[in-house]
Amino acid sequence: MFVEMNPSIKIDRAAWLQGPSAECSVAPRDRKNPWRLVLLGAPGVGKGTQAELLTGRLQACHLSTGDVFRAASQRRDCDQSPAMKAALEYMRRGELVPDSTVWDMVRERSQCILQCDGFILDGFPRTLTQAELLKELMEKEQLSLSAVVNYELPVAEIVQRLSGRRTCEKCKSVFHVTERPSSGGGICDRCGGRLFQREDDRPEAIAVRLDAYERSTAPLIQFYKSLGLLLPVVAKGSPDEILARTMERLAQVDKLTKAL
Ligand code: AMP
Repeated sequence: MFVEMNPSIKIDRAAWLQGPSAECSVAPRDRKNPWRLVLLGAPGVGKGTQAELLTGRLQACHLSTGDVFRAASQRRDCDQSPAMKAALEYMRRGELVPDSTVWDMVRERSQCILQCDGFILDGFPRTLTQAELLKELMEKEQLSLSAVVNYELPVAEIVQRLSGRRTCEKCKSVFHVTERPSSGGGICDRCGGRLFQREDDRPEAIAVRLDAYERSTAPLIQFYKSLGLLLPVVAKGSPDEILARTMERLAQVDKLTKAL
């Protein structure tokens, strides 16, 4: 299952970000054992960065529900459905978007989960209801998750990470003012786009998000532990160190799968 990313292989997320009316330019390659991962962890723990890095290593598509909402927020007002407008208000306040809205959005994009060459779900599921719905969706197609990686970090460090995070407005790459600064200051190293602070990374929204995490998302740790899928990973250190730790844990799963 472990393959270094071939630079000629591109992963396209058009169908995920824009919905079923858009088509990915890269067709699925029908691999035998694609990775189907969920990344768990409090906001700011670095799931997005790890998802990006893992995408390169595992050749799996990065499916972030937060990115879908952010992509929708860039659209013209008249192109946003009433449900999406309401969802974006929840997001601005740092609150969770209601399960029904999130599920409608994910269900519309279910081919990204069911038919792609592996995925890394980042920011979904975030509640027990969402986790049950995902399980049902996959079970109907006789699919199961390979593992659920749970990134662990003390709250004080999470707050420091969130408040210093900067995102590229064009390619969505994530930087940090001290831990992962871009060499061009407020400009993205990858594409030259402008870096900005997400509205929900402001202090008042951070408190709301951490509270929502404790109440609604933390119970998923037990849920996936009882399914035998949970892989705890300490999220301290640089992104590369955390990636190395994650790959070590995934190698154990890989060996186990092969031994079965
Ligand atoms: P993220 O980029 O994953 O931190 O998501 C940003 C925001 O989008 C969250 O704070 C929520 O408001 C919303 N959001 C993203 N994914 C979900 C989800 N699965 N359930 C509920 N709200 C979500």
